[in-house]
Amino acid sequence: MAVTLEQLLNWLQLIDEHIIEQRGYLTELDSAIGDGDHGANLARGAAAASNKVDFEHPEYIDDLFKLVGMTLVSSVGGASGPLYGTFFLRFASSAGHVAELSAAQLASALEAGLAGVVERGHPERDDKTMFDAMEPAVLAFRTGIVDGDVPYAAVLASHAAQAGCDATAGLVARKGRASYLGERSVGHIDPGAASTALLFQALAEALA
Ligand SMILES: [Mg+2]
Repeated sequence: MAVTLEQLLNWLQLIDEHIIEQRGYLTELDSAIGDGDHGANLARGAAAASNKVDFEHPEYIDDLFKLVGMTLVSSVGGASGPLYGTFFLRFASSAGHVAELSAAQLASALEAGLAGVVERGHPERDDKTMFDAMEPAVLAFRTGIVDGDVPYAAVLASHAAQAGCDATAGLVARKGRASYLGERSVGHIDPGAASTALLFQALAEALA
């Protein structure tokens, strides 16, 4: 089953909607262990990206995600803009100049996005970052397409992202502003992991 440009546009639309709905929650999480701007930053980035997409109407998957990635890098403050921007830029390069992706090509694009985040932020598991949700989700997607179809893989990825996100509550932050809190960061979900869980929830909905 191929994944179409239209489904990927729908993915971006759903990310946008979830960020708007959860903006207050993301702000609350970031207020506890960061500087409280994660909800506002992502809402601004998502709005800027969807305006660009509406205006330019990209017809190929690489053009679409390049536009989204570049917009996030330039319009979202903090660490999350460059990280999510890099995720989508690498996704674009891996996908290539095509209007649809096979399941395996989508898995590779997600892996390329993850690799970009690793290169940019050097996260390790249990640092209490977006990586704790993103890595298990990307691995689960690859496993899912071996065992089943794209919708199944996307649901597995979404569940893995949510589980990874929930588990960040028990971790001591080792990266970014939250790391200054040391042990006091325990008991709080990482906001970046929470927004990554929304990204994979949106993917599962778009590919259902
Ligand atoms: Mg922040």
